[in-house]
Amino acid sequence: MKITIRQSDFNKIYEHALSERPDEACGLISGIDREDGVREIKKVYLLTNIDHTNEHFSIDPKEHLKAIKDMRANDLKPLGNWHSHPESPSRPSEEDKRLANDSSASYLILSLMEEGEPVLNAFHVEGREGEREVRKEDLEIIKDGEENG
Ligand SMILES: [Zn+2]
Repeated sequence: MKITIRQSDFNKIYEHALSERPDEACGLISGIDREDGVREIKKVYLLTNIDHTNEHFSIDPKEHLKAIKDMRANDLKPLGNWHSHPESPSRPSEEDKRLANDSSASYLILSLMEEGEPVLNAFHVEGREGEREVRKEDLEIIKDGEENG
C-alpha cells in the first residue's frame, strides 16, 4: 500500500520528536483511504508519551480520545500512529511489534539516530502476537499544495 504525508505534517512530527528528546515522542495519524488505493494522511496529532522514556511509548489516553473525537468532527479516519526512535533505526522494535495489534493501521516510525537526517518509514504489522509479520509501506512525502484531490 502507498501512504502519503504532507511535508508540513512531516515537519510537525520531526520538530515535536526533537523537542521530546531523549524521550520517544508519539501521536496519531488520520486521513482518508482513497479509491485509487492510496492512503493519504491529512492530519497528524502530537500527543504526550506518558512513559517518558527513550525505549517505548504510551499515548496519553485522554489525549487519544480527544484526537479521535477531532477526527470524527473532521470526517477523517484514524489511520494509525507514529512515534520516534531517538537512538535507534526506523523499524519496529520487538515491543512495537507486540503492541501493534491493529492489522489495518499504519505505524510510522521516525528515527533521529543521524543528527539532521530524520528517517521516516511506515509499516503494516500482521499476524497474531508472537508471530507478527512486518511489511514496509511505500511512504511518500508530498510538498504542500501538490496533493491532487
Ligand atoms: Zn518503537
